[in-house]
Amino acid sequence: MRYLIISDIHANLVALEAVLQDAAKEWDVIWCLGDIVGYGPNPNECAELLQQHDHLSLSGNHDWAVLGKLDIESFNSEARTALRWTQETISEETRQFLAQLPPLRVEAPFTLAHGSPRQPVWEYILDERSAGENFRHFDTAYCLVGHSHVPLLFEDMGGGKSRASLPHYGEALQLDERRLIINPGSVGQPRDSDPRAAYALLDSDTMIWEHRRVAYDIAETQERMREAGMPFRLVARLELGW
Ligand code: ZN
Repeated sequence: MRYLIISDIHANLVALEAVLQDAAKEWDVIWCLGDIVGYGPNPNECAELLQQHDHLSLSGNHDWAVLGKLDIESFNSEARTALRWTQETISEETRQFLAQLPPLRVEAPFTLAHGSPRQPVWEYILDERSAGENFRHFDTAYCLVGHSHVPLLFEDMGGGKSRASLPHYGEALQLDERRLIINPGSVGQPRDSDPRAAYALLDSDTMIWEHRRVAYDIAETQERMREAGMPFRLVARLELGW
């Protein structure tokens, strides 16, 4: 089976469409690691587009906040503004769709979590220490996470230690006996100084993994955000990739 691995779409429909087009005919099923909504201008359209495909999706902290499962006050002011707008904008269908998504799923030999296997909704895995600790919190060979919006790989070095590496885009990575935590990066709001949408492809027969980036029409998403009255910083950060 061939999988399209995406995360943190954040209601950025233009970016999601660019990813689907870039990876067209290269996958059978979507694995989406959460944060489908929040920040961006098209929450309903993104939820609908995802549901048009064979997919397994997780919920993220922004999805939970929109549903009222997390306190919006725990987010920064711009995120709060976007979350309130999203709460007012999503349809009943989108709300119901988001409400039935789990924050963690095991699809052996992969564990899928929005943030981390230890704290699926909230924890960021951005350094070797937190990654090393998290290897004790899942039983499968590999764990796929989103949440940080930064494409990264961590290899289990044993004893609670890990080694981080950056992805090599467009290159096949053979998954082998090494245990890994892998973040495919964010579709709708990358934070690694590369504003292009990030995603990954996985072939579970050959166990080949590949990180990808694709440019999309950022100005179009920014225009839609301005029309929705989103805070300036949320609009501006997209073109800088932070
Ligand atoms: Zn996110």
